Amino acid sequence: MGFDPPCVTRIIHAKPPASIAQYLQEIGRAGRRGQQSHAILYYNKRDLAANTPGIQQDIIKYCSDDTRCLREKLLEPFGFQKSDQIANDKCCSICKSKSAASHSLSAMENVEI
Ligand SMILES: [Zn+2]
Repeated sequence: MGFDPPCVTRIIHAKPPASIAQYLQEIGRAGRRGQQSHAILYYNKRDLAANTPGIQQDIIKYCSDDTRCLREKLLEPFGFQKSDQIANDKCCSICKSKSAASHSLSAMENVEI
C-alpha cells in the first residue's frame, strides 16, 4: 500500500533521482487512470557529477544522452520495449522534436518553386 492518488497527471523533478529504477517508480504515479500524463526532469551538469551523493551511473547516462527516445531509455534496463502504438508527438520530447523536424523537412520538400 502506497501513495496512489488517481488524479496525478504531472510529475516534476527539480533534480535527478538517484537511479533509473527510482525515477521510473516515481513517474509511474502519474496517469494511473490511463490519462495522458507528463514527467518533467530538470537537471544541470553539477547534478550529474559522479561525486553527487547517491547518484548512480544509469541516471547519469540517461540524462547525458539527448539523442535517444527517453521512453526507450527508461524501459530497456527492465527488458521492456516501447509500444508501437505511441505516436512520436505523444512519446517524449526527443521523439516530438524529431517528428517536428521531419514534418518541417517534408513540408520543405513539398514546396514548389
Ligand atoms: Zn520517445
